[in-house]
Amino acid sequence: MKNFKIVLYLSLLFLLSCSESIKSENARNYVEPSTPLILISIDGFRWDYFEKTDTPNLDRIINNGIKAEGLKTVYPSKTFPNHISIVTGNYPSNHGIISNYFYDSGFDEYYYIGAGSQAAQDGKWIQAEPIWVTVEKQLKRAMIMFWPMSDAEIQGVRPSEYYVYSDSPSNITRMETLLNWLDNSGNDKPSFLASYFSIVDSIGHRYGPDAQETIDAIIEVDNAIGYLLDGLETRGILDEVNLIVVSDHGMTDTPSDQIINIADYIDLDDVKTLNGGPFMEIRPNDGKLETIYQQLQNIEHTQVYKKEDFPSKFNYSNNERIEPIIFLADEGWSIQTPGRYPSLGTHGYDPDYRSMDGIFVARGPGFKESFKGPVIQNIHLYEMMCYLMDISPAQNDGSLSETQEFLR
Ligand code: AMP
Ligand code: ZN
Ligand code: ZN
Repeated sequence: MKNFKIVLYLSLLFLLSCSESIKSENARNYVEPSTPLILISIDGFRWDYFEKTDTPNLDRIINNGIKAEGLKTVYPSKTFPNHISIVTGNYPSNHGIISNYFYDSGFDEYYYIGAGSQAAQDGKWIQAEPIWVTVEKQLKRAMIMFWPMSDAEIQGVRPSEYYVYSDSPSNITRMETLLNWLDNSGNDKPSFLASYFSIVDSIGHRYGPDAQETIDAIIEVDNAIGYLLDGLETRGILDEVNLIVVSDHGMTDTPSDQIINIADYIDLDDVKTLNGGPFMEIRPNDGKLETIYQQLQNIEHTQVYKKEDFPSKFNYSNNERIEPIIFLADEGWSIQTPGRYPSLGTHGYDPDYRSMDGIFVARGPGFKESFKGPVIQNIHLYEMMCYLMDISPAQNDGSLSETQEFLR
């Protein structure tokens, strides 16, 4: 009985810790907040998903604000590299999160993602400054309910409030949390807020980009955004905040008859392979690099590169975490080790495929009204967000001039 009570108590404690935000013990003298900037990511929302169904709430943003033809991802078009590029303005080779899964020889450890990932909560992996650190260093508050690595301490800094990543809180809860934070007063008011929806991506993987299930996920997220907009309106602050909705990449069909079995070409005992599907990174054993590279030549629907020869358009070479050989699949094809099969949809391909583009829509006092602009690259958003909050950006690869035409 006593054990049962202890288990019950510990379970309750665990549930509470999951649903409570963590307040940082910051001894900072915060200054007057900026016009609040809300950054929302809808993981895997492809640029043309607006055409699949009505999205009345996203339309409320677009009609009163701006919409880009698309948001171009960085290579690889995966979740972590792109979320970190959005918030640091750096290419993956400069921010260090070069993939969702990679190896660092200095640490002799692998980086990996997902709810419960210790690596994704460890700031030692990131090699550039995310915007919430820039904000906090300039004595303004950042409050985040989910964004890749927002639950890590970086340069000794954490957001004023944040949550450890979990899949469970509902999409409405996420928006409610942001609204509650906006109710803070004085110097406790946040200048930067962010949140994240995973459902459009996870359903897109499972059922494919054209499935009804994916459309239902789009509608669910659009409703959550409606909840946020209504909350802002009720508070009378809808026109006093800058709201940006982005996605990290798109999605494409990956049929099960478009598989390249890597074991048909190389001896897997000669290499270590990382990732799979749209691309595979390969670390040949000592003395095997040239053999492996030759064996992967001229395979239909693929391209193989040595790291140092990877085309410069990818901006993906000057980081020692990148493996010696990069093996790329054409759109819709999947490179697999034996026994592994693709899901019905995926991303990670060359960012030049239109299907990999995400979205960038926004409204608020900083943005033009009813303005449609061209595709822009996600590395430029960091400078733009710093400008909107009137803070000085850290070192980055982006440029404010690239987003100027969207700004008032
Ligand atoms: P991808 O494999 O590129 O589609 O990545 C999507 C996955 O990233 C989601 O299904 C989550 O499991 C994971 N993810 C998203 N945000 C976080 C986070 N803040 N911490 C850890 N994992 C995350
Ligand atoms: Zn993603
Ligand atoms: Zn995904």
